[in-house]
Amino acid sequence: MPENCLFCRIADKQLPAKIVAESEHALAFHDIAPQAPVHVLVIPKAHYASLAETPDGSVMAAVSELAKQVARELGVEAAGYRVVVNTGDDGGQTVHHLHAHLLAGRQMTWPPG
Ligand code: 5GP
Ligand code: ZN
Repeated sequence: MPENCLFCRIADKQLPAKIVAESEHALAFHDIAPQAPVHVLVIPKAHYASLAETPDGSVMAAVSELAKQVARELGVEAAGYRVVVNTGDDGGQTVHHLHAHLLAGRQMTWPPG
């Protein structure tokens, strides 16, 4: 793992985060700067710089499975939610450890900014 990767350090519990749920291969925690009433980040515990770096679909399978579980546990499944994976510069990715944003609790708009 890259030593100063922020999300690797959160995954290793070296840095604090408000953890919501955990599975064997993924971790969910509240975003530090929430953009919606519910804004949870779901990361693979292993380091992949972005979606583009994943070797196969198993990484996102673990991430999406935990995102779905968190949506259910936080009570937003019925109302709906949005899952976003910003990838690369044009995608707006700022933290280079793959993560999915789970956004909920308000009406989302389209197109995204
Ligand atoms: P990106 O822009 O890469 O798609 O999303 C990165 C997200 O990580 C942002 O929503 C940002 O608020 C969040 N973030 C950045 N640093 C931290 C941190 O130290 N802890 C937590 N919980 N979230 C962070
Ligand atoms: Zn990392």
